[in-house]
Amino acid sequence: MAEDQNCIFCKIVAGELPANPVWQDEDVIAIQDIAPKAPIHLLVIPKKHVADVVEAAADPKLSAAILRAVAEVARQEGLTDFNTVFNTGPNSGQSVFHVHGHILAGKNVWTGATD
Ligand code: 5GP
Ligand code: ZN
Repeated sequence: MAEDQNCIFCKIVAGELPANPVWQDEDVIAIQDIAPKAPIHLLVIPKKHVADVVEAAADPKLSAAILRAVAEVARQEGLTDFNTVFNTGPNSGQSVFHVHGHILAGKNVWTGATD
């Protein structure tokens, strides 16, 4: 098992920390961000522990599962326009070193536009 004992997202995946998945499949779960930075702010988290998108890219099956999950979650939530962000490294603002894609909608995180 690739679980990291000190990783909060591994604990969420294992059900040791509470989170209400809005979507999941065999490989990935999606949850609401605890501190939303846009009206809609979801996190797409693979169940396998890998640190970041660079590590994830070494596993084509995992990469595809993450990207497919982004599309499925957006479709389920009725989102056609959204930002997807993968922070990589502490200087990018990455604070949880278990790869996750942020899905942000309702406010454009680049321009600040709300429509
Ligand atoms: P990062 O800064 O690593 O790209 O993103 C980590 C994200 O995880 C942050 O937006 C933060 O608000 C969110 N987060 C941290 N801890 C928890 C938690 O226990 N539950 C949920 N749902 N989100 C969390
Ligand atoms: Zn982890």
